[in-house]
Amino acid sequence: MQPSSSRQQPLEEKKRVRRNWKQVWQSQLPPKICTFVWRACHEALPTLEQLARRNRDVLNECPICGVSEESLQHILLRCPFARQVWVLSNLPWGIIATKMDSVLDWLWVVYEKLDRGSKDKFLALCWGLWQNRDQVFMEGKTATSLVVVRNTSWLYEEYVTSGRMLRPTAIRSG
Ligand SMILES: [Zn+2]
Repeated sequence: MQPSSSRQQPLEEKKRVRRNWKQVWQSQLPPKICTFVWRACHEALPTLEQLARRNRDVLNECPICGVSEESLQHILLRCPFARQVWVLSNLPWGIIATKMDSVLDWLWVVYEKLDRGSKDKFLALCWGLWQNRDQVFMEGKTATSLVVVRNTSWLYEEYVTSGRMLRPTAIRSG
């Protein structure tokens, strides 16, 4: 299998990805979630898999479930904790569980299959799973899957209802 790389994408694939990106940037998602998606798509998130590639001393072990394979795909889908989060989220598990070789393909295929109202929720929860993993890894703080779902939903709803008006650029220009 060819690893997915933006440089090797055929034209149709590039157009498809560009269309998805347009939707992401025009969505109601907070900028930090859009930035997370961007970093995920450019392999710029410090997963243990990434760190272990550069440093052999890094132990690639999921800090949540202990499985010795902590890739972005594991954090967002394969980890039992992620599965609990998706089930609690009420997003269609049949779509979320779509099997793809790379996390990037998975992210876009799921994004395209979901209806308009679920797309933002999906990306917000991916971000929530990454944030949670970061807290467990860096600070040893564990949250329940229900807390991750609730906190992510609150953050998103709060941003949609009031956050956009309070963005720093808006305040500065006022
Ligand atoms: Zn895990």
